[in-house]
Amino acid sequence: GSFIIAIDGPSGTGKSTVARRVAAELNAGYLDTGAMYRMVTLSVLRAGVDPVNDTAVVNVLEGLNFSSPLSPGHQTHLLDGEDVTDEIRGQAVTLAVTPVSANPAVRAWLFDRQQLLAHSGRMVVEGRDIGTVIAPEADLKIYLTADAAERARRRHTQNVGATVGGGLDLAAVAQDLERRDTHDSRRVHAPLQAAPDAVVIDSSQLALPETVAKVLELAAA
Ligand code: C5P
Repeated sequence: GSFIIAIDGPSGTGKSTVARRVAAELNAGYLDTGAMYRMVTLSVLRAGVDPVNDTAVVNVLEGLNFSSPLSPGHQTHLLDGEDVTDEIRGQAVTLAVTPVSANPAVRAWLFDRQQLLAHSGRMVVEGRDIGTVIAPEADLKIYLTADAAERARRRHTQNVGATVGGGLDLAAVAQDLERRDTHDSRRVHAPLQAAPDAVVIDSSQLALPETVAKVLELAAA
């Protein structure tokens, strides 16, 4: 049968790393729904379409062909067979993903694909609306958060030495997180919010292994 752990929360909480480690520990698959929004966004930009033009964005969906590995140890995202793993983390995509992910037609299109993958066995699924929309029946729902300054610090540390996103200073990173989370929380369709039955984990004072241990403990209960 299917077993789903949903992990939602704002940007920069360490969500992806936690989700991947939990999946590896449990021998489960891992679905990064943010990467799917990012690949749609990259296609929109490559097509020369304005990301805020909802109607034009919908036309891009038709020819879209992407895939992501479900194995937590092997995260390579392919768009039309091309490895775009680094490019989808870059500034251009990170800016444009906000309006693209607020587009209801994009969300509906990804809903089908994400639901199917989420129910493809034992899965850890990470995003903003997994516990509320994609898998409201998940066996365990985690809402991972941390205070804004700590999230900015973590994301900034992660960016230093990375091939993309390395150019932003701490203040710019903080501003970008604030911009994305405000939009994600205020949008009409599937806003970022904790499911009523989610376990909220504030990781501000927790080291990564402690957060992973907490989730594993809850999964075993
Ligand atoms: O998780 P990540 O930062 O890669 O997500 C990029 C963006 O995609 C988020 O800022 C959010 O706007 C959108 N997203 C979403 N719903 C999801 C996952 C991501 O709207 N389930």
